[in-house]
Amino acid sequence: MIEILSPAEVQRGRATGALVGGILQTLKQRSVAGTNLLEIDRWTRQLIAEAGATSCYLDYAPAWADGPFGHAICTGVNDGVLHGKPYDYRLADGDLLSLDLAVLLDGIAADAAISFVIGGEPDPESSALIDATERALAAGFAAARPGGRTGDISHAIGTVLREAGYEVNTDYGGHGIGTVMHQEPPVPNDGRASRGYELRTGMLLAIEPWVMADTAELVTGDDGWTLRSATGCRTAHTEHTIAITEDGAEILTLPSAPGS
Ligand code: MG
Repeated sequence: MIEILSPAEVQRGRATGALVGGILQTLKQRSVAGTNLLEIDRWTRQLIAEAGATSCYLDYAPAWADGPFGHAICTGVNDGVLHGKPYDYRLADGDLLSLDLAVLLDGIAADAAISFVIGGEPDPESSALIDATERALAAGFAAARPGGRTGDISHAIGTVLREAGYEVNTDYGGHGIGTVMHQEPPVPNDGRASRGYELRTGMLLAIEPWVMADTAELVTGDDGWTLRSATGCRTAHTEHTIAITEDGAEILTLPSAPGS
């Protein structure tokens, strides 16, 4: 089902999105060498609870999993790119950390992810990976407009990632979002323009380019959740929830300005 939200529901989505964006920025600021991934999960639960929101991940139990995720945030380190399950690991300077967060507030969900390097100057490979996903996300966003198609977004994302020299894996990608976290339509990270589902005012989409340095193949970690690059190479993932509005697309998961 493709959900079309009312203007009032989109307005609530703005609040959820600002919360998600704000929590991710707080977590980024707090994540330094020595920070434990389980600590990041605890901070996330606390920030979600303080806002009166609920986690979309805690009880998330897809058919392929052996039970609920049990954590409020995905933490992917270096070769870990998607569904990263937090575990007892202390971050080190130079680690590439991807954080993926979805919450439900006032009945509307929002989903976003950021990737960054712990400590000082990131290495060139990590910078290139992160930069490619951020540019792909910006291109996907620019291609989203009412009357367009999901394929326009997919094509824009895939073009940036391929031109940056990466193979694109389309097994996992963006998705519709609204009263629940995952729904139709799928928004793969590559595809053909003018194909796919029509974009309509009132749709919310989570757009999420991710990339691996030298492979398109994933392997599942021993925890049954964390998807890693098959070669052990570094990876990056960037995501925003957007709303299709009459004026084009609007990013909902930017952190709100302090005091706003
Ligand atoms: Mg998502």
